[in-house]
Amino acid sequence: MAVAFASTADLRDQPLHFDQLAPSVYAATADGDPNVLVVTGDDGILVVDTTATPAMAQPVIEKIRAVSSAPLRFVVLSHYHAVRTLGASAYDQATVVASRGTYDLIAERGEADYQSEFGRFPRLFRGADSIPGLTWPHLVFEHRLTLRLGRTEVEVLHFGRGHTRGDTVVWLPRERVLFGGDSIDYRSTPYCGDAYLKDWRVTLQRIRALQPQVLVPGRGKALQGSAACDAAFDEMDAYLKDVYEITAAGAQGGSLKAAFDHAYPRLKERYGHWFIFEHCIPFSIARAYDEACGIAEPRIWTAERDRELWAQVHG
Ligand SMILES: [Zn+2]
Repeated sequence: MAVAFASTADLRDQPLHFDQLAPSVYAATADGDPNVLVVTGDDGILVVDTTATPAMAQPVIEKIRAVSSAPLRFVVLSHYHAVRTLGASAYDQATVVASRGTYDLIAERGEADYQSEFGRFPRLFRGADSIPGLTWPHLVFEHRLTLRLGRTEVEVLHFGRGHTRGDTVVWLPRERVLFGGDSIDYRSTPYCGDAYLKDWRVTLQRIRALQPQVLVPGRGKALQGSAACDAAFDEMDAYLKDVYEITAAGAQGGSLKAAFDHAYPRLKERYGHWFIFEHCIPFSIARAYDEACGIAEPRIWTAERDRELWAQVHG
């Protein structure tokens, strides 16, 4: 039976949840779709990630306006992926902040990624004609940036390579709230197509050392309490270990197709019930295969390469 390409068969809009997690901290989540963190400080608002289009960002802005009239001051990009960045123009007065790695990836492969992601998951790109072009950060940091919104301190941190080369997490030390971006997803299958899988597990432990009380993953529901956060880190680490090790065991000098046929059923048995498993796993196995074969840098995905991979593994 033919498997529908990526998420092209996923056409049902998810309801938008907007939940308060701490005083001045909210998460916009949508059952496996990319999450948004909102911090409403005394004198300004900070948003982490912007959805894929300005049109998709509008319902989030309406939720924000229901709880605060402060100016929309900062937009932080957790990484370069189109579904995180291309809605930024909806926050037109805000300063857009990104890590050096994210800035470089936007320059190097932002346009190809836009076409790739649009083709894979058109539902997330409602109102794509409202996208004015790539989102260019105004402010670029190397490892750590501290922002203040009145009394609220916000740490913007790059701990190393993982989901991408520019991964950024946002940490509120007083509230002990962490927004993980796709460095840590929760029961929504982590996409590894642009990843450094072995580095990712090391980076994940550095992030975990913050010891959050509230964790907003890049996808999936927000988690409250250190036990729930720890369990999410454990699951994430196990997934990364499995994707790499099972794929590498299946590679053993053979083809990508042979590695896929080895890894896919084993990973499906463990993670097949997570959101977007079928969508993500071919790309994740393809990158794990490359990494196991010694290809250090993730190769650029294009709309054409996406389809070629799909035909190769499912054809
Ligand atoms: Zn991502």
